[in-house]
Amino acid sequence: MRLAIPFLVASVLVAGPVAHAAGPKEVASADRSLWPDPIRTPKDFDRASRAENLAFARALGELEGSDAATLSTLLGVKQVHEDSVRRWLGEVKGRVAENLKAARVACAAPSELGCAGAAPTAANVVSLGQAFAEDVPASHQAWLEMATRFYGLYAKEQLRLAALFPGPTSEILTLAPGEVTGSDWPDRQFLLTFDDGPTPAGGGTDRLMAILKARKANGIFFVLGDSLKARQTKTSAESLQALYQGQCVGSHGQTHTSHQKLATWKDSLEGSRGLIASLGIQGNAKVLFRPPYGQRSEELTTFLKGEGASVVLWNIDSQDWNAKIAPAPMTDRLVSLMLLWRRGIVLFHDVHDKVHVALPQLLDFASAAGLQWRDCKSL
Ligand SMILES: [Zn+2]
Repeated sequence: MRLAIPFLVASVLVAGPVAHAAGPKEVASADRSLWPDPIRTPKDFDRASRAENLAFARALGELEGSDAATLSTLLGVKQVHEDSVRRWLGEVKGRVAENLKAARVACAAPSELGCAGAAPTAANVVSLGQAFAEDVPASHQAWLEMATRFYGLYAKEQLRLAALFPGPTSEILTLAPGEVTGSDWPDRQFLLTFDDGPTPAGGGTDRLMAILKARKANGIFFVLGDSLKARQTKTSAESLQALYQGQCVGSHGQTHTSHQKLATWKDSLEGSRGLIASLGIQGNAKVLFRPPYGQRSEELTTFLKGEGASVVLWNIDSQDWNAKIAPAPMTDRLVSLMLLWRRGIVLFHDVHDKVHVALPQLLDFASAAGLQWRDCKSL
């Protein structure tokens, strides 16, 4: 779940444990039906991936020249952290260049879609994106219009987090060694994660498990200590072991609150992971931690690293908790972001129902495109 500004924490907590914090004003939603080609092979994936990266690079070009005052108005952020914005832009342009290089390996001729121009670098990806947009064939014009809108909004979503960082911190940038985002994983490797559960017995968590088991898929469930305890009290440790069998369980803290300035962060961490370990439902050698809203301190990360554990963030945000996006465009958003980033950690919430619609489609897409899901125990 996302948070705009720290004072909203209080209102979120008053509203209830799984209430939604304020996210971006407008969520980037995609419409994959406008991509005119099938994506049935790894080569199809590379072709579409080139187009997505070039469209995103062009959107970055629209924003990167803005000064702090312009960004402040555009993003609705009072204080723009310019160092973070510069760092984010540099990292992201470097990633786009690497993505384009990987996706161009499949190019047989410069005349193929997204194959023209100089070898991609962080310095030239924006101009490659601009040249691509000017030369897109008529068959892909409707997609380009949609993608221009999508990446305009997505770049703003991401830039807003960078402008706020580190007050609050979030998944947008790392703070210290020992934080995993998935951004630097090998090409075509992805991992599923599900936050904020478990639901009461028979709820969304159980329905999601049925889908994962039927598809022989797995992921990491970042559970809240209080929710786990509540379900244990009404059922049993054995039923929780059965529920999470074949999956991995990490900690999302004792309650859903920012751990960036939380005085009791260590108690929250140790209480929740102690409970996970005591129930015998641990899938990883060390209990991994995902801070609510991605908000953590350097001290917290360093503490975990000292124990050989990690802060696990994400780089592909489904926005599934957000009422502004319906299941179909949310699924299309995720396909677009998997084509864009080519790797990484997908964030879902098992306490919301959209994952039940999106997951089977994502698994089908990944299978056709030759993508790999990392085993949750590999972290
Ligand atoms: Zn959460």
